Amino acid sequence: MMFDWLIVGAGFAGSVLAERIASQRGESVLLIDRRSHIGGNAYDCHDDAGILVHRYGPHIFHTNGQQIVDYLSQFTQWRPYEHRVLAQVDGKLLPIPINLDTINRLYGLNLTSDELERFFAERREAVDEVRTSEDVVVSTVGRELYEKFFRGYTRKQWGVDPSELNKSVTARIPTRTNRDDRYFTDSFQAMPLHGYTRMFERMLAHSRIKIMLQTDFREIRGKIRFKRLIYTGPVDEFFGWRHGRLPYRSLRFEHRTLDQEQFQPVAVVNYPQTEAFTRITEYKHLTGQTAAKTSLTYEYPTDEGDPYYPVPRPENEALYKRYEALAAAEDRVWFVGRLATYRYYNMDQVVGQALATFKRIQETLPAAPVLRGHREAAE
Ligand code: FAD
Ligand code: UDP
Repeated sequence: MMFDWLIVGAGFAGSVLAERIASQRGESVLLIDRRSHIGGNAYDCHDDAGILVHRYGPHIFHTNGQQIVDYLSQFTQWRPYEHRVLAQVDGKLLPIPINLDTINRLYGLNLTSDELERFFAERREAVDEVRTSEDVVVSTVGRELYEKFFRGYTRKQWGVDPSELNKSVTARIPTRTNRDDRYFTDSFQAMPLHGYTRMFERMLAHSRIKIMLQTDFREIRGKIRFKRLIYTGPVDEFFGWRHGRLPYRSLRFEHRTLDQEQFQPVAVVNYPQTEAFTRITEYKHLTGQTAAKTSLTYEYPTDEGDPYYPVPRPENEALYKRYEALAAAEDRVWFVGRLATYRYYNMDQVVGQALATFKRIQETLPAAPVLRGHREAAE
């Protein structure tokens, strides 16, 4: 059988495009994933204790894109949830992003917002050009807070010093002089009411979408017939690592269930100074589930294992540019998503990128049924 499209990867990038192509163009899609489930890194499931957990670490949905919310809302209802994170610093659990309460509690002070502005102004270092992840923080709050909250966490998470990472990494975390202790300030913050996997199932429930799991593109390449390809796996792998390996940072997840109702006061606690893991997630805070037990995930960063994070630093971006050039020269192949475009994207950004790709497909490949015969004849 000949499929109109082969889509490699059933995460957000691949699933959004499969849904759009099947429902809006009426074309057939074979969606494959080498894992045993759909959803990519956003996959969630009930563990042995019946608690809804995220297999690949905490996934919190937040966006300022109304179009993205509208799109996903076709497939899920939402549970309002605003993410709050504490960091264990100097033996205390303090709010991160750094805010007024963080500083007052850390140093036993009673500063006002204006006084905190001055506090930072006295401590921040002048940096000519803010280039690195160290520059961002020391030029905002000074070196001492940088060392307490950022240096250790970043070294653990990325395996390199913040001075070797682009500013974009720590710039994800703002600094506030008010008491807002939310991790995100996006206009829309919520979790899919019945979880991500349920949302993906509804997205992919279409007669023109066939799903094959535990199927690696490398094994079926050349064996399955299709007209066009959407690839959402690692871009260097697609090209047989021709220019060398693009570094992707991985994580080892340790999932634990405890015989107690609650372990920590918020969903995520970060450990920037101690421990080999970066953070502990307690899922019941995210989902609102009530149960006598509670389930947690510890994240241990590593270079080995599944690729999770592109590593934003100049030499990696230069290497990616070489793969991007190869990708641009591929006729009939679209590269989409966090691994295929080597971008440290959140879920909403990947959905946005996939919807934009679909728009481009619509513009460049008219899909009206009357044209299909012509196209097939031409091919
Ligand atoms: P993926 O989800 O990685 O999907 C790609 C799929 O392709 C995978 O399932 C993979 O198995 C498959 N694949 C790859 N190669 C092949 C092949 N050769 N053959 C077959 N299949 C293949 N984002 C947020 O917005 N909020 C968060 O709180 C958040 N937390 C995160 C926490 C962690 C620990 C991680 C790692 C990421 C987090 N993200 C978060 C980011 C989010 O996971 C990604 O933005 C999103 O899942 C990317 O979707 P994707 O489709 O590009 O990639
Ligand atoms: N970070 C840190 N200390 C923290 C939280 C974050 O140093 O307590 C830095 C670290 O480099 C991290 C980056 O900020 O990788 C982005 O944090 P985020 O929570 O967005 O990471 P993600 O959820 O994507 O893993």
